[in-house]
Amino acid sequence: MLESVKTGPRPPDPKETTVPIQAEYIWIDGTQPTPLLRSKTKIIPDYAGALSDMPIDEWGFDGSSTEQATGESSDCILKPVFHCADPIRGGKNIIVMCEVLLASTGEPHPSNTRAAAAAAQAKYKDQEMWYGIEQEYTMLRLDGTPYGFPVGGYPKPQGPYYCGVGAGRVVGREIIEKHTQACIDAGLRISGTNAEVMPGQWEFQIGPADALTVSDHMYVARWLLHRVAEDYDVVISFDAKPEKGDWNGAGAHTNFSTRAMRESYDAVIAACEKLGTRVLEHVENYGHDIQSRLTGKHETAPWNKYSYGVSNRGASVRIPWQVARDKRGYAEDRRPNANCDPYTVTRLILETVCG
Ligand code: ADP
Ligand code: MN
Ligand code: MN
Ligand code: MN
Repeated sequence: MLESVKTGPRPPDPKETTVPIQAEYIWIDGTQPTPLLRSKTKIIPDYAGALSDMPIDEWGFDGSSTEQATGESSDCILKPVFHCADPIRGGKNIIVMCEVLLASTGEPHPSNTRAAAAAAQAKYKDQEMWYGIEQEYTMLRLDGTPYGFPVGGYPKPQGPYYCGVGAGRVVGREIIEKHTQACIDAGLRISGTNAEVMPGQWEFQIGPADALTVSDHMYVARWLLHRVAEDYDVVISFDAKPEKGDWNGAGAHTNFSTRAMRESYDAVIAACEKLGTRVLEHVENYGHDIQSRLTGKHETAPWNKYSYGVSNRGASVRIPWQVARDKRGYAEDRRPNANCDPYTVTRLILETVCG
């Protein structure tokens, strides 16, 4: 065990007069093919200084219950990487996003994709890459049927639902309102929300921010979404293609820009060209079941045919029209699935565009 891991009860401190707070430690588990979020609560002493300066200890958990260790050697370390106010509990309570380390060596656990993203971000720091990720998701009933579909049947075909208003066109508004306010109250860089093309499908966006910030905030925002929806018995699914047939899948369009792209159109085009040089490596790491979603229909390009174009929602990578007009800005990689790992997606874009 590492010496720095402090677990177990603290002896009572008679000088302590403040009420302790709750810290919700969140981590990504080892479930395959798509990891799940886990969390547990630690009661810690209150802190009088600024929230951002608050000292947060490492902690541990039983990796044999999360597909991250065997029973004989079960301890894994939770290393805090980002913390913010807890908008669910309120008060001075906090949420702590963690990465997982091996207790035996202190090295990143095989399920820890953040460590590699951190290395890439450090390597290409001078190019000042920013990301904005559009997280789509689908609300399901506990029995797995889409929350936006009538019980035992199907709704009218896609058309009126995207950015819709009114009963019969949108469902679950209360959940997204609560989730959005929770993200704002936590201080996450949420930049917008909208109802999506399939009923019961919604989107929120995080960014622009660097690879680690956008990804840390995305995971906390996903956790908050599951947590808010839990109170309504609504399941949040990040499945890439939750409903087969003539229904849009769920993606995580990843908008990105280097400083050079924000200054010149040539750099935007060069980045789109570069993304075409490692197509399979990206698609294979953009989330489980990507072939079901990237079919060439439903506003997607086929997974194995790379393309880019201005305003083209049928391309792998879209250059927004205002970027073509202003001759600078960003590009949108439309391929990542809703169930992607943002640490991996942002790392791959960094390595391919900046490398
Ligand atoms: P869409 O038109 O594809 O639905 P959205 O408005 O949902 O686009 O999302 C666009 C995302 O791009 C937002 O998260 C926004 O913050 C982000 N974004 C805007 N400018 C940049 C930039 N220069 N670099 C990276 N991301 C950006
Ligand atoms: Mn969008
Ligand atoms: Mn969308
Ligand atoms: Mn988009």
